[in-house]
Amino acid sequence: MKRLTGLFVAAAFAAAALAGPSGPALAKGLVGIAMPTKSSARWISDGNSMVEQFEAAGYTTDLQYAEDDIPNQLAQIENMITKGVNVLVIAAIDGTTLSNALANANAAGIRVIAYDRLIRDSAHVDYYATFNNFEVGVLQATNLVNGLKEKFGDVKPWNIEVFGGSPDDNNAYFFYNGAMSVLQPLIDSGDVVIPSGQMGMDTVGTLRWDGSVAQARMDNLLSAQYTDRTVHGVLSPYDGLSIGIISSLRGVGYGSGGQTMPVVTGQDAEVPSVKAILRGDQYSTIFKDTRELARVTVGMVDALLGGGEPEINDTETYDNGVKVVPSYLLKPVPVTAANWEKILLESGYYTRDQIE
Ligand code: BGC
Repeated sequence: MKRLTGLFVAAAFAAAALAGPSGPALAKGLVGIAMPTKSSARWISDGNSMVEQFEAAGYTTDLQYAEDDIPNQLAQIENMITKGVNVLVIAAIDGTTLSNALANANAAGIRVIAYDRLIRDSAHVDYYATFNNFEVGVLQATNLVNGLKEKFGDVKPWNIEVFGGSPDDNNAYFFYNGAMSVLQPLIDSGDVVIPSGQMGMDTVGTLRWDGSVAQARMDNLLSAQYTDRTVHGVLSPYDGLSIGIISSLRGVGYGSGGQTMPVVTGQDAEVPSVKAILRGDQYSTIFKDTRELARVTVGMVDALLGGGEPEINDTETYDNGVKVVPSYLLKPVPVTAANWEKILLESGYYTRDQIE
């Protein structure tokens, strides 16, 4: 089976080359793309960019979203295997639940790329395309500290609370650790205080990156810790959580009547959050160009199926529990009200009328 798949793909590559750019191409292969959810715009952009770029490169695609339901994603992946895809590109909901599915994929000669999120506990992950996730956390915390200086420069210590991402997403630990590498020295020096004392992914993680869970936790923190003190900043690892956190803060009067909105961070530069930055509700986000991640992924697939070596730039960081997965890490970019036009409009990621 493995060999047949390889022969078929090689023949398709040759045919695609002969057919030329506009010729009657025999597709180079079928790519199964499993994305976690449509509830966050970034994954919709990821899916669209991949379909567009894979098709332009001569592939056919099967794109599926699982609405953050683990059995649903598993079933979608099993279906793709049955359909005979040549490659699976997977952004896992829970990075630890795919081992059996990937063993089946491997038995069928299907190559696997972990997309944005590392797939853990499996030897059958060929490559990983992502952003520098530790750096995302460093940038988030750096934005937080910049915002604290800007908005509350004359107050010390700064009271902050920290939120983590979903504990079943390997990225969440990298974001958290990156952020703490910046915050811990300030906690140690006394410049920053976490009045709740709540730290560590076990305590501050937010299952499934759910904004309403973050909102409920912020409500609790505000009523337990902040009836007679002010919160100056909140480390939020994802725009969808920031929306919940901001509405909790607004609910007790921050952002109105002379109560300054705390510095709230984010990630993904999603449209509602860029608007929140322009309104002054959110301080920052992190832009991860999903078009670039799609480009890297298509390049990896092309190399894998064409018998070449995918381009990688990291062979050390991403140990999935069974092996270190060779990776390509893209650069995340911090965004605030000061640079959003340059980063998000000049790059053509958004048009002005989407935001203003
Ligand atoms: C991604 C982030 C995203 C989060 C929630 C993470 O795995 O890397 O970009 O904010 O999932 O969807």
